[in-house]
Amino acid sequence: MKPLICLGIESTAHTFGAGIVASKGKVLANVKDTYTTEKGGIHPNEAKEHHLKAADDVILQAIDDAKIKSDEIDLISFSQGPGLAPCLVVGMEKAKELSRKLKKPLVGVNHCIAHLSIGELLTKCKDPVLLYVSGANTQVIAYEAGKYRIFGETLDNGCGNFLDGFARHLGFGFPGGPKIYELALKGKNFIELPYVVKGMDVSFGGILTNLKQKIDSGKYKKEDLSYSCQETVFAMLVEVAERAMAHCNKHELLLGGGVCCNNRLKEMAGIMCKERNAECFIPENEFLVDHGAMIAWQGILERNKATKKISSIDIKPYERTDDIKVDWR
Ligand code: AMP
Ligand code: MG
Repeated sequence: MKPLICLGIESTAHTFGAGIVASKGKVLANVKDTYTTEKGGIHPNEAKEHHLKAADDVILQAIDDAKIKSDEIDLISFSQGPGLAPCLVVGMEKAKELSRKLKKPLVGVNHCIAHLSIGELLTKCKDPVLLYVSGANTQVIAYEAGKYRIFGETLDNGCGNFLDGFARHLGFGFPGGPKIYELALKGKNFIELPYVVKGMDVSFGGILTNLKQKIDSGKYKKEDLSYSCQETVFAMLVEVAERAMAHCNKHELLLGGGVCCNNRLKEMAGIMCKERNAECFIPENEFLVDHGAMIAWQGILERNKATKKISSIDIKPYERTDDIKVDWR
C-alpha cells in the first residue's frame, strides 16, 4: 500500500475533533474542542454553534501538531453517523471544504466502528468484543461473517446520557459522568436500584426515574446514590459483555466510548476478563472519548471508498453499525 496521510473530522455530538494518522497507524495529531454546559444537557443547536466556532482552529492546530504541510494530506474523512444532524453537518461541510481546497478525496465513516478500529490499532487486540459505552450509544459489538454485529444494546438511552441525566437532576452540567464518579468515590452504603438486563440488551430509563424519585425524597445521600448507580449499571454492562464473549467464543474485550474513562468500569471489566481467562484491552482516555484520530484511521481503512465526487455525499444520522459491509479486515 502506498503510504498515506489522512485527516479525519469528528463532530457527531459534543466534540469537534481533527486527527491526522499515517497509513502505518501512527497518530500524528489529535486535537479536539468539547462543548460543555454549567447546567443542562447538550442542546444540538448550541453544540453546532460551538463546532462552527471551534472547527478552523482545531483543524489548523492538528496540521501544526502533525508537523506537516496541508498539501501532504492525501485523504480526508469525516464522521458520517450516527449522531446529531446539526453537528454532523458542520463536520461534513468542513471536510468537503478541505477536500475541495486540497483536491483530495473524501470518505464518510461510521462513528461506532471507528471506536472499535482505533482500539484495535492502539491496543493490538485481534478479534475483540467491543463494549462501546458513550453518551448516545451503548452497544456490545463483535465481528462475525463480514459485518460488525450488535449483540446487545441499550433499549432506550445511552449509558452516558443516562449518567448525564442523573447528574443534571443533582444540579450538575454536561458532562455529568465524571461528577458522578467523584461522588461515588465517597459513597459507603449500597442502595438497591432496578437492574435491567434483557438477554444481551440493557435499559436505563426506569433506573433514572427511580434515582430521580430517590433524590427528590431527600432520604438518601447523593454520594450513596452515585455509588449504587455505578455499581448497578456497570454490573449490567459487564454482564452483557460477558454474555456476548461467551456467545461468540471470543477471548478479548475492548472498551470504547467516554463512559469507559470511568475507573470503576475499567476495574469491573478487568475482573470479569480475568475470571474467564480473557484479556481486557483499554486504550488511553484520549482515545476512548470522541476524537478525530479514530475517524482518520477509519478513513485509511476505507480509503478505497474515497471519492472526489463529493456533492452526493451526505450525513447519515441514523446509520447502524451493522449497515456497514466490512471489507478491510
Ligand atoms: P463520548 O460520547 O464517547 O465522548 O462520551 C461522552 C460521555 O462519557 C458523556 O456522557 C460523559 O458523561 C461520559 N463520561 C466521561 N467521563 C466519564 C467518567 N469518568 N465516568 C462516567 N462517564 C464519563
Ligand atoms: Mg462516541
